[in-house]
Amino acid sequence: STPFLSVQDLTVDFHTEDGVVHAVDGLSFGVEKGTTLGVVGESGSGKSVTALAVLGLHSPETAKMSGGILLDGRELIGAPRSVMERIRGNKAAMIFQDPLTSLSPYHTIGRQIGEVFRRHTGASRAAARDRAIEMLTRVGIPQPKLRVDDYPHQFSGGMRQRAMIAMALVCDPDLLIADEPTTALDVTVQAQILDLLRDLQEQTGTAIILITHDLGVVANTAHEVLVMYAGRAVERGTVREVLGEPHHPYTWGLLASMPRLSTPVDAPLRPVRGTPPSLINVPSGCPFHPRCDYPALAGPELCRTERPELSPRHGHGDACHLTLAQKQEIVR
Ligand code: SF4
Ligand code: MG
Repeated sequence: STPFLSVQDLTVDFHTEDGVVHAVDGLSFGVEKGTTLGVVGESGSGKSVTALAVLGLHSPETAKMSGGILLDGRELIGAPRSVMERIRGNKAAMIFQDPLTSLSPYHTIGRQIGEVFRRHTGASRAAARDRAIEMLTRVGIPQPKLRVDDYPHQFSGGMRQRAMIAMALVCDPDLLIADEPTTALDVTVQAQILDLLRDLQEQTGTAIILITHDLGVVANTAHEVLVMYAGRAVERGTVREVLGEPHHPYTWGLLASMPRLSTPVDAPLRPVRGTPPSLINVPSGCPFHPRCDYPALAGPELCRTERPELSPRHGHGDACHLTLAQKQEIVR
């Protein structure tokens, strides 16, 4: 059966003055209700572009999309704007890294949460205010009946992110997309917000897409992982599979650059060497080959000329020409 959200062979191209930006290229994944998919990769790997595509937030004038985005069995690519507006908030909602860019400084927190509710339900102002208080309570804002009348600047960074989550969840969406929701927060608050998302998911069964560059966040929060590079999926599987037995050289690089509790604070991290590729002139063959340590082993000609496909279609898979035996030899 088709997963609750099913993205099939998604391609997103932006036509710019410099050429066509291939932001997403042949991406497929699914998310089931009540589960969290962690989407990881460096900036420019297509994570946010994918999220905005699912919510229909790319303008058709600049973004050319193909493939399929099925939400609860319904095709969203090419859906009329009115349908997408109804879906956003009601069925699918998004929270961003920086609540200050999404919250208006001129209206109270309660008013902003309430307006989203009113727009989708036609509730009265009084009912919307009650709903805002209820949501602030659910996301753990202390003294919600008082704080509902605060302005965003009166909230701490962590409380603003909680308010954003309250706003995103006010209409009980089936899918929540969180784009780097904790990146701007300190470690303690970050852990609290991730705990909150997990608790809310247990209560509501929401499907969550958690976009992050931080594999540590994925390890603690997600069920499944999708590793993206140059707009493509390079590895996919359960958290246990991908973090416990990573197969793709890019995933190895991400894992090696992860700070560990056992690492002294000032020890240098080993980032993936080199820089993310141009999405206008994507490297031929395996797009990771200019940064990879293993083309000599896999076959330099092969890595340079032939695009490795992600296989198998379900379960743990990766897009790399190395054999499983070679991978196991390398990580040993
Ligand atoms: Fe490296 Fe080749 Fe595998 Fe790409 S296909 S990740 S270049 S070994
Ligand atoms: Mg991003």
